[in-house]
Amino acid sequence: MMFESTLVEQLRTVRRLVALTGAGVSQESGLRTFRDAQTGLWAQYKPHELASPEAFQRDPKLVWDWYAWRREAVKAVRPNPGHYALVEMEKRVPAFTLITQNVDGLHRMAGSQNLLELHGNIQRVRCADCYTFTEIWGDDSEAVPRCQVCGGLLRPDVVWFGETLPRDQLEAAVLASRACEVFFSIGTSGIVQPAASLGFAAHNRGAVVVEINAEPTPLTPKATFVMHGKSGEILPRLVKAVWG
Ligand SMILES: [Zn+2]
Repeated sequence: MMFESTLVEQLRTVRRLVALTGAGVSQESGLRTFRDAQTGLWAQYKPHELASPEAFQRDPKLVWDWYAWRREAVKAVRPNPGHYALVEMEKRVPAFTLITQNVDGLHRMAGSQNLLELHGNIQRVRCADCYTFTEIWGDDSEAVPRCQVCGGLLRPDVVWFGETLPRDQLEAAVLASRACEVFFSIGTSGIVQPAASLGFAAHNRGAVVVEINAEPTPLTPKATFVMHGKSGEILPRLVKAVWG
């Protein structure tokens, strides 16, 4: 694959770069998307019946079990070459910010450091009442484990339907996007807000937008460079072309 020389030149001297990733990057690791994951006994539920504060209030055990099942699914997959290419980029760009909408933790597993997880991480568990994080909980098959501090129910530290994004992560994402010189949008359909607005914010402030996705998105008309395909194939080649 050949890359446009202007892109290669730009990346060699870029100081501030933001990369936003979405479900497509996880899918390339073999992880099914939220809706695709609703197979078997989970297929009868609508997404908001498994991933909303109301669902947790109504049937905490159902929601807990759904996330326990998804955590197991993540254990079976590994970061792909796209994840690792972003780690390489971070080593070479002075100010690199990775923003992800994925909750699987694969970027962290690959070794990305300056990472904003906009939608949380299913590997983390916290109290639904007092917000205390915990890494150890009893696996009682009968009931949802409870917080050691206040006795509240434990829940995954992910953003559910109807919940707001973690403010510190979102603010940092907006600031980085406004300040960057190059903005990568990778494997994201560009329709889930507020993440979808970040590429537009970067473009409005004069950043060069690079899109890598299987198909066009609402951001495509604003992108200077558009590459249709798999990030796990395109990103490693790009890193090699620029810094290899
Ligand atoms: Zn608590």
